[in-house]
Amino acid sequence: MFELIRDAIAAHQTIILHRHTNPDGDALGSQIGLKHLILANYPDKTVHMVGDGAGRYGFMEDSIMDEIPDSAYLGALAIVLDTSAKSLISDTRYTLAAQTARIDHHIFVEKIADIEATDDTFESCCGLVAQMAQECSWSLNPQAATALFTGMVTDSGRFRFSCVSGDTMRLAAMLLDTGIDTEWLFANLYSVEYNSLKFKAYVYENMHRTENGVAYFSVSKDVQTQFGLSYEQASAAISYLEGIRGYLCWLAFIESPDGSTRVRLRSRFLTINQVAEKYHGGGHACASGATVYSTDEAAALIADADEAVREYKAAHENWL
Ligand code: AMP
Repeated sequence: MFELIRDAIAAHQTIILHRHTNPDGDALGSQIGLKHLILANYPDKTVHMVGDGAGRYGFMEDSIMDEIPDSAYLGALAIVLDTSAKSLISDTRYTLAAQTARIDHHIFVEKIADIEATDDTFESCCGLVAQMAQECSWSLNPQAATALFTGMVTDSGRFRFSCVSGDTMRLAAMLLDTGIDTEWLFANLYSVEYNSLKFKAYVYENMHRTENGVAYFSVSKDVQTQFGLSYEQASAAISYLEGIRGYLCWLAFIESPDGSTRVRLRSRFLTINQVAEKYHGGGHACASGATVYSTDEAAALIADADEAVREYKAAHENWL
């Protein structure tokens, strides 16, 4: 699956790694992990990472992006990681590269690059990059392995989602064998600021529920300021509504700096990406993103999600 990308890496002196905006652990992990894999196996290459800041994942080693001029793209290979749509790529200059490639695990939306290696059965893009390292018989160092393991852990819900297989665990084991400091990693993933706890209480106090089983909440820019939260920190609150019995879909409406509203959609058992796609979005079957531009549009999205849950409950038993 990775021969063409491996050959493209071998053929180019400069490789520039892109991923989606507002990076999560998987976007950064695949970017940092691939950088260190290339450097460990092709020490003479120049590898740059570009994109917006690491935000909540700034604890990851080597997560500071490079500032590069447009001229760096001359004759270079650009690889886009963990990104399903062109509009989501952070730093659009990937189009300046001599050749482009993409490694991704999202449901296919559109072709992005000259060479594509996508597989939506993988829990994470980091899992795909780990598989690539194995298929290419690349040597693996703890720096690459830690970054890739972080993405596998975070995008799989700590190895909990249904897409996690024996193969996932075998790749994770290969990474762990290099000596990853998991205590440090999980401390960074789980520790929270006191203000975040206060915000969590606010979300539970102000959440809403629909008739058929959608739970949702909104966070305006004013509330983000009130709790001293960055936009990304406010967006992370989607996880607070996970696991409420009977509420098979949960949504977060987060007012963006540009005034539009980012919607994060999550579900268990039923698919929700078809709702996201109706509202300028897309993503995975049970974890998608969308954007709405008015309260009417937000209400319509909630009604569509409610209808999806109603239909699912009418046709299935044993949901909880
Ligand atoms: P998020 O809630 O932003 O973490 O998004 C969940 C998943 O949906 C991620 O894998 C995103 O890459 C994907 N996603 C978010 N927004 C969009 C969009 N506008 N188009 C396609 N996929 C998206």
